[in-house]
Amino acid sequence: MAQVSEATRAKVADEIRFDILQGVPEGENDLKRSQIARTFICLPHHILPVPTKEMYSYALQASLGDDISSALEAHIAKITGKRGGSFHAIRPPYTVLCDYRAHIFKYEAGGAGFHSGAAVTPVIPSNGHHLTLDDVQANMVYGPEIAYAPTEVIALENTLNGTIIPQDEVIAISEFAHSKGIKMHLDGARIWHVAAETGISLKELVEPFDTVSLCFSKGLGAPIGSCLVGTKEYITRARRIRKLFGGGMRQTGLLSGSVAYALTYHFPLLPRVHALAHKLEKSLEDIGVTILSPAETCMIFYDAGSIGTTYDEIAERGAALPEPLFLGGSRLVLHIQTTEAAVSDFTKLIATIAEEKRKTGFVKPEVKVNGHQDVYVRRAH
Ligand SMILES: *Cc1c(COP(=O)(O)O)cnc(C)c1O
Repeated sequence: MAQVSEATRAKVADEIRFDILQGVPEGENDLKRSQIARTFICLPHHILPVPTKEMYSYALQASLGDDISSALEAHIAKITGKRGGSFHAIRPPYTVLCDYRAHIFKYEAGGAGFHSGAAVTPVIPSNGHHLTLDDVQANMVYGPEIAYAPTEVIALENTLNGTIIPQDEVIAISEFAHSKGIKMHLDGARIWHVAAETGISLKELVEPFDTVSLCFSKGLGAPIGSCLVGTKEYITRARRIRKLFGGGMRQTGLLSGSVAYALTYHFPLLPRVHALAHKLEKSLEDIGVTILSPAETCMIFYDAGSIGTTYDEIAERGAALPEPLFLGGSRLVLHIQTTEAAVSDFTKLIATIAEEKRKTGFVKPEVKVNGHQDVYVRRAH
């Protein structure tokens, strides 16, 4: 091999170098954190809150390598009570029945069909709030009719748009599903909020389900995303499929350490977030704003039209405040880094706009809120 000069090596290293601490203006992270504290937008692909310095320094103290990740997996298995049992592979043709507002139906780029060959039966809850056993029975597909793909999985989401499914209903659906040999899956990305709000243990909440996905990066604010729990055979198969998709991970100690921090120090903050959401809802109602979906946990959906304005106007005026607010459409998401000041500034902005509209002759129309509608109204772009 020809001798490689130092200069050549340096040139290669120079090309590869990506020192992100070079050229970052001082205070940029602090600015980002202060903006997050005033941000109410959380699109399905946005993540709030952001990881904290405390979280990262805690995670740094965790042991290296994958031990901590194995310990985390064991802990999640313990608090969800999911292990053992048998797994039946499900193959097309089949359908997954879910709420028509479900994340797996709307916000995963059609992933159910792509990844597993499943067709989805999206169901509109007849009570406008959550799927009931009646809804499920009315929309299930079974029997010998070959024109239909049979329902093999019922996937519930809790919370859904921040609302909680009554546990009695979950149990009723699950007992019925299991009596027909149908699997129950829980999209529990935000199940932490249900546990925090209702005081029901995680184990009890997920007991009616065969498989559960949990997300650490939504309400809990850890980096990266989700964790899947289920029977041992199911998880072995899921690991294999993860590998197949190129999703295997190594040296995850720092991530798992951040999750441990979030479970320990962020989970207990959720009741404060819910209380703040309730306070915001009450203030909006006092101003005369129509609430489209109530603050049961950390989200509120509201109707800008009910005070004669638009989401665009609200977002623009929020952005123009001396201390800006970051707003989207009808959906307001509060999180552990949302400040009281952000909520009261938003409330003041809404009150000001409502007053202006009243002065120019706006009268709130008599509209019946149709709980069935998809309350997620985006801003125009
Ligand atoms: C974010 C979210 C998901 C997806 O979680 P990932 O971490 O992106 O896999 C699924 N369901 C709900 C309800 C979510 O909010």
